[in-house]
Amino acid sequence: MAAELTVDRGALVVNWRRLAAVARGAECSAVVKADAYGTGLEGAVSALRRVGCRTFFTAHVSEGIRAREAAPDAVIYVLNGLAPGTAGDYGAWRLRPVLGSMEEIADWSDYVHATELPGEAAVHVDTGMNRLGLPPSAWGEAAGRRRDNWLGFEITLLMSHLVAAEEPENPINARQIATFDEARALFPGVAGSLANSAGVFLGREARHDMVRPGYALYGGNPLPGDENPMDPVVTLSVPILQVRDVAAGDGVGYNATWTAARASRIGTVPLGYADGFLRAGSAATGERKAEALVDGVVCPIVGRISMDLLALDVTDVPAAARGTDAVIIGGALDVDRVGRNAGTIGYEILTSLGRRHPRREIGF
Ligand SMILES: *Cc1c(COP(=O)(O)O)cnc(C)c1O
Repeated sequence: MAAELTVDRGALVVNWRRLAAVARGAECSAVVKADAYGTGLEGAVSALRRVGCRTFFTAHVSEGIRAREAAPDAVIYVLNGLAPGTAGDYGAWRLRPVLGSMEEIADWSDYVHATELPGEAAVHVDTGMNRLGLPPSAWGEAAGRRRDNWLGFEITLLMSHLVAAEEPENPINARQIATFDEARALFPGVAGSLANSAGVFLGREARHDMVRPGYALYGGNPLPGDENPMDPVVTLSVPILQVRDVAAGDGVGYNATWTAARASRIGTVPLGYADGFLRAGSAATGERKAEALVDGVVCPIVGRISMDLLALDVTDVPAAARGTDAVIIGGALDVDRVGRNAGTIGYEILTSLGRRHPRREIGF
């Protein structure tokens, strides 16, 4: 009996098709960075490629190479762009860099001229994130070099990234949409891409020619506050190791930050922060943070989450015993709720879990 992280590739495919339908004619790509948000990059790429997804985004070159091996004929963009000395890897693996500065554009141009490779690449324009991408002051120069045939390669995609798409009322969305329209006008004939998962739901003006969902593919809710339109992809359940009786007034775990207010039954579960289960979900007396489902009942995690173990208050679950499954993600405990319980977002939960426990892939 061991912890089991289950990844439902059938649900992944359902989610991709659902997003593609919402995108209405815009190409639906898949963002598979960070090991496909902790769910397994190769499995995600090959399942999605088989059902018609043509374009994938990774963050690192190493991830791009793994995606290339899983999908020899796919288009693969690497979001983090052209770090010094990496152009050869892009060329060898037919990866497309997402170029985010004039230096990167110049480097890529030199490489393409020297190797005579086709060198298709995306250009990232910054519309407000201030992280990667050409600032508006450089757009004219880049567009001019394209017009003058100075680049030596085709810009296959002009992209930008939304700052707050999951807050549809935030006025920054409309500003970014307008700013991206200005950028696109400078690069006539180049396909555009702006929307992440939540952006897919922001309307036609945000969708352009290609959408780039990540989180929603893996079951995360792209519409926080509304009902989640996606199917769950990841479940994690861990069998309870021991159940013990604790008297009222007794402490549980390191530093006894939680003490029992009543005679309690405590289930010890072999899952901790070394497994990626964030210690921030620890609960002192009177607090309610991380949770697990036992026999259908939501139970609070009590005291400090330690490296390899956590304690669960199963007093109200008579069936809880050695070997009973504690569901960490699944059912009522969707990734968004698990994230909120630990004071973070579901994205961090997905990408943190799954490094230590065996992954079981079902449905594709
Ligand atoms: C991660 C990322 C995405 C996907 O975002 P989600 O919110 O997970 O859908 C899209 N575009 C860029 C540039 C990203 O870095």
